[in-house]
Amino acid sequence: MDKIKALEILQKADASAELYEDSWMPEEAAFAAWFEDADVLATWDEGPLAKALTGGKELSDGIRVYPMNHQNRLVVNERLDFTRPVSLAAHGRTFGLGDRLGPAGYAHLQVVKEHDVKPILAQQSMRELTLTNRTWDDVLDAAVWSVVKAGWKGGFGADGDHLKKKEDIEHALSCGYSMITLDCSENLKTPPESPAELESAYNTIDAAKRAQWEKEYIGNPLAQKLGADLDKAALMRAAVAFGDAIPFITDVYENIITKAGRRIDFEVSVDETPFETEPSTHFFVANELKKANVVADSMAPRFVGEFQKGIDYIGDVKQFHKSFKVHCAIAKEFGYRISVHSGSDKFSIYPSVAELTGGKFHVKTAGTNWLEAVRVIAEKEPELYRKMHRCALESLEDAKKLYVVHCDLSKIKALDEVADKDLIDYLNQDDSRQLLHITYGFMLEKGLREPIYAALRKHRKTFDQNLIRHIGKHISLLGC
Ligand SMILES: [Zn+2]
Repeated sequence: MDKIKALEILQKADASAELYEDSWMPEEAAFAAWFEDADVLATWDEGPLAKALTGGKELSDGIRVYPMNHQNRLVVNERLDFTRPVSLAAHGRTFGLGDRLGPAGYAHLQVVKEHDVKPILAQQSMRELTLTNRTWDDVLDAAVWSVVKAGWKGGFGADGDHLKKKEDIEHALSCGYSMITLDCSENLKTPPESPAELESAYNTIDAAKRAQWEKEYIGNPLAQKLGADLDKAALMRAAVAFGDAIPFITDVYENIITKAGRRIDFEVSVDETPFETEPSTHFFVANELKKANVVADSMAPRFVGEFQKGIDYIGDVKQFHKSFKVHCAIAKEFGYRISVHSGSDKFSIYPSVAELTGGKFHVKTAGTNWLEAVRVIAEKEPELYRKMHRCALESLEDAKKLYVVHCDLSKIKALDEVADKDLIDYLNQDDSRQLLHITYGFMLEKGLREPIYAALRKHRKTFDQNLIRHIGKHISLLGC
């Protein structure tokens, strides 16, 4: 079989059929193709893969096409090593490419092919799963099929993101996820600002433990060397905030992560807290985890300033640089990588990330890919965009219970005053970006799911180009 012949046969069945060029696998007698309704996996001459796939349809000349569904994904995983998510902790730079809807992975891989960075393709939190009404399997299916379409053999990860409960972690692992991001926020306490209240919160901790910590941490020379010196007050803040989280992290690590039967990348995240992770607190956590023999592959502190969704960093970039430098030094000392969450569109701090991490980092993005989908719709399907925008305005108050954003409605132009050709400007203004960013679940829920997916399929080349440009900018600025 050759590509020209294969395409000819496919186009007899569907005039709009196209090959995914890089998916061509002569050794498996298989390749991926675009059909108008849905992508397909095609095989010829009853190759080895064809024998195991199901639901196929015979075209002519021995070519069969199969749906890219869950069952066939498992067949592909079984036979083709490169389609299984793997641990990427050994690779210095990884980039999280959360794809809330599912069709962005192919374009993401086109970017990754040009850079020295490994992709975490499937990356979804419980919040995103609930809001998009997708399952762990759905998300991984989409990622695996994008790997097949792109012919990507460089390895990819799958991240059960921001998981707070042991049963959710176990579930994600049972579906084949290769990375777990443990969210400790339910086990954290915000340290009181008033010294008296801080002291009384601290004094509820077991006295022997406090005495041991005071001896160990106050004036600790390693912390001093790293620029994360702890005095009594700093120790009290760290201990109050993280005292309960350390045993929880240890429990998850010992009883789930190390017992998974394969290498799992383990990330500890404390970024979704109302208080900054001070460098001294970071040191305390790193050292306590080391004492408990917990080996984290990455850690996501809550940095100084604000990391709001879909917009650039809010805060003093110089101050960020200074404090980030200490976080990086601590991570290096304890042997893990710094992870930057809500990393999309934070272009003003990327030079610091590239420089201070020494090229070893994890950066997560997700919603910005959704915003690129909205951009395509604003440009190509104004009527649909208007429905989405109205739905976003109606749902904003509910969405704000789930995401922290400023989003000043008075700064967003009224929809009926904006001409179709200017709708795209909403994607270039911070307040409307945030409005559209956090209300995706409501749009999908309130009847717009199918039109959105149909529009992205219809305009997939524009969508791919947008993603390649936008994610390419992120990865280039990170120095990959
Ligand atoms: Zn996070």
